[in-house]
Amino acid sequence: MAERMIVIGGDAAGMAAASQARRRRDRDDLEIVAFERGRFTSYSACGIPYWISGLVEERDQLVAREPEVFRDEFDIDVRLRHEVTAIDLDRREVVVRDLTAGRELREGFDTLMYAVGASPRLPEWARDEVQGVFGVQTLDDGAALRAWLDADPAPRSAVVVGGGYIGVEMAEALIQRGLAVTLVEQAAQPMSTVDEDMAALVADAMRATGIEIRTGVEVTGLTERDGRVAAVVTADGPIPADVVVLGLGVRPNTGLAEAAGMPLGPSGALRVDRRMRVVGVPGVWAAGDCVESLHRVSGAAVHIPLGTHANKQGRVAGINIGGGYATFPGVIGTAVTKVCELEVARTGLREREAREAGFEFVSVLTESTSRAGYFPGARPMTVKLIAERPTGRLLGAQIVGRSEAAKRIDALAVALWNGMTVEDMTSLDLGYAPPYAPVWDPVLIAARKTVDALLR
Ligand SMILES: Cc1cc2nc3c(=O)[nH]c(=O)nc-3n(C[C@H](O)[C@H](O)[C@H](O)COP(=O)(O)OP(=O)(O)OC[C@H]3O[C@@H](n4cnc5c(N)ncnc54)[C@H](O)[C@@H]3O)c2cc1C
Repeated sequence: MAERMIVIGGDAAGMAAASQARRRRDRDDLEIVAFERGRFTSYSACGIPYWISGLVEERDQLVAREPEVFRDEFDIDVRLRHEVTAIDLDRREVVVRDLTAGRELREGFDTLMYAVGASPRLPEWARDEVQGVFGVQTLDDGAALRAWLDADPAPRSAVVVGGGYIGVEMAEALIQRGLAVTLVEQAAQPMSTVDEDMAALVADAMRATGIEIRTGVEVTGLTERDGRVAAVVTADGPIPADVVVLGLGVRPNTGLAEAAGMPLGPSGALRVDRRMRVVGVPGVWAAGDCVESLHRVSGAAVHIPLGTHANKQGRVAGINIGGGYATFPGVIGTAVTKVCELEVARTGLREREAREAGFEFVSVLTESTSRAGYFPGARPMTVKLIAERPTGRLLGAQIVGRSEAAKRIDALAVALWNGMTVEDMTSLDLGYAPPYAPVWDPVLIAARKTVDALLR
């Protein structure tokens, strides 16, 4: 009889695992059933802000693979609108609620793939039944927000609560749709994924596009009119809002796993080994936004919910379930985003993280340009490097600039991944031609200045 694999969660991690397992084992050997509580599989949540803004025209452009493709080409039985409500490890069964038919099923498994992602953090005040408040995590969430924005009369004012990268991308999307947008952030700057000096550049650029930013302000409640949101309440007074978007970060969806007795790590996400097996739970695998990863620089277990990790981890799990051998080597915190015209990138540790990890370091900010200074379209670029003192090992890097800035982080990520020192980096053979870089690329200038700082 075929072994039975059940996948919970039909997006990046879950379907990557399912497809990889199927590539190695046919249906007679492995039956695969995937439960997804939403209406979509393998969609790009990362693309939601660009569909909300209108840059991406059709919702279905964000769907990489429809359930039919999984059924017909991969022989994977995808069941949409099916929510797993419990895992019974003793009986090797999951309890599933068919949300369309309104009935409950129990389904047995030999192998379980837990890939349920994360959920937006919900403050107390957002739990009331007031309409017009949206977290954005799944394509269903995006579709609900888009329907609210497309309604007649259309909302005119928006408040984004929280200035993480999702909040910042959503603020951009909403201003591009013509709404009056206020971003409310409790900290001193939005964009807390980079250091404050770099985040200040992001805040300036956002203000220049018309987004109002209120920092050091906490939202404590909502006011409503006929059950619909009318304003957010803050200590500074109410801010009108026909729509509220939550950008307060996410929490790993560990509830089902915890209830089944699976272990959580220090980050609060599920503990897995390097082959993506849930630690101490035979036959159960997990990947994506619900698990923690090893940070290769700090050595800490971290929860960094990104699509890039979810896809790689799901692939690793699937290869192993399929009988192959693969490991996930950890993360270094590389991330890029775009805020209006500004590109923002980071890799490795921020100053605070380097301090918390116990490193002695120097951190150096360098201003340069994206192209040769005389070449049309050359734009300013700020690069910040953090290097261990006295070894000079690169610990972290951040870039804020306009065109051609963000993806320069990849060179720095490769250097950091390979443990290079800033001294080594000064002679890296990076490409140069006036339309692409100054003769000393911003990355090389930053490395040189950091070497100087280490010698001081
Ligand atoms: C607006 C936005 C922008 C982003 N931009 C980027 C970016 O630019 N770069 C990047 O690397 N990452 C980005 N991300 C993060 C990225 O989308 C996630 O890291 C990735 O989707 C995680 O994949 P996952 O499969 O672990 O979880 P998810 O994509 O969240 O999928 C989990 C699935 O499980 C389903 N599910 C949950 N519980 C159950 C249950 N009990 N039963 C059945 N199904 C269940 C959910 O409906 C969901 O479809 C962005 C995310 C958002 C929201």
